[in-house]
Amino acid sequence: MRIGIPTEVKNHEDRVALTPAGAHHLARAGHEVLVQSGAGVGSHLADEQYERAGARVVATADEAWGGADLVCKVKEPVASEYRHLREDLVLFAYLHLAADRAGTRALLDAGTTAVAYETAQAPDGSLPLLAPMSEVAGRMATQVGAALLERPAGGRGVLLGGVPGTQAGRVVVLGGGTVGRNAARIAVGMRAEVSVVDLSLPALREVDEEFSGHVRTVASSAYAIEQELESADLVIGAVLVPGARAPRLVGDDLVARMRRGAVLVDVAVDQGGCFESSRPTTHDDPTFAVHGTTFYCVANMPGAVPVTSTHALTSATLGYLTALADGGTTAVRDVPVLRSGASTSHGVLLNRAVAAAHGLES
Ligand code: NAD
Repeated sequence: MRIGIPTEVKNHEDRVALTPAGAHHLARAGHEVLVQSGAGVGSHLADEQYERAGARVVATADEAWGGADLVCKVKEPVASEYRHLREDLVLFAYLHLAADRAGTRALLDAGTTAVAYETAQAPDGSLPLLAPMSEVAGRMATQVGAALLERPAGGRGVLLGGVPGTQAGRVVVLGGGTVGRNAARIAVGMRAEVSVVDLSLPALREVDEEFSGHVRTVASSAYAIEQELESADLVIGAVLVPGARAPRLVGDDLVARMRRGAVLVDVAVDQGGCFESSRPTTHDDPTFAVHGTTFYCVANMPGAVPVTSTHALTSATLGYLTALADGGTTAVRDVPVLRSGASTSHGVLLNRAVAAAHGLES
């Protein structure tokens, strides 16, 4: 099959959907990989690396889309890309269609078979193509928080790990899922004092087991969160209720009682945020002040580390991309993870949540 890898055109999107290693794997499996010239530049991957890996570098987006049976992207097509959609095309990408009426309409009108990374679900209920970006965002959250705690950045002037004879910084992670556990790993590695708060006892048991007592586990309640936050230096919001808006766990009245210069990183801002004053920010202007604390609420944190994110994404998608390349629309029907990610096909909307969001039939 011919697989097209166009350059991402969305603002500030420096990731690419396939690494040279991925192209090599697909070429060896007998597929033809068409990479748009410059597609990897934002992730420091040169055209020559793709060529050496067995891909064909093409000059334009028209060639990467038009010459392919299967197009693999990072982000959903934007309006300028709708003209590339067609009925005999399979598209594999993050689609977020529930929040994108125009994109949903474009895919349905064109008849494209589209498989969304974010809804592709493994039999155990996990989301294998979303997890790598949660891992990146979780690890970044502690790193960003540590930097914002420095005095010149407006923070309390606390070194997260402290030094002998001083008190280490206190990190409170709300939510012990993929983001939360990755945030805790980096915080423990920096030698901070870490608490993880979760509603789910099985999630707390996993945290307890992984960190062998080096992380305090806290059953989530308004009371417990208040107790934890009053002495916190860094708070990381990492809760998720699948399919729903993030629960508001931290009101402004509580923020007002926190230490001055404390930092609150709301990773869950892409689902509405779990702090009352959270609002999405960008990498260009990532923070704002609330009652003497610093809020960081960037909705696409992995975009700041495209080199890592590109490799993490390809590692997660490659097996499924290979199955799609081998089987085409048959794989969409027969491979359970791909079937659960199938969003549109031949003008039919296949995802119930997307249909409900737009008042359409599925
Ligand atoms: P996850 O499902 O692995 O973990 C969420 C955890 O939150 C679960 O353990 C759940 O029990 C817990 N939780 C739910 N309600 C709670 C409550 N009231 N109190 C305490 N804990 C509660 O999800 P994840 O992959 O870790 O993702 C977390 C959030 O981060 C999601 O909103 C996701 O979209 C977001 N995210 C954002 C970015 C970004 O760039 N900003 C990147 C990746 C993920």
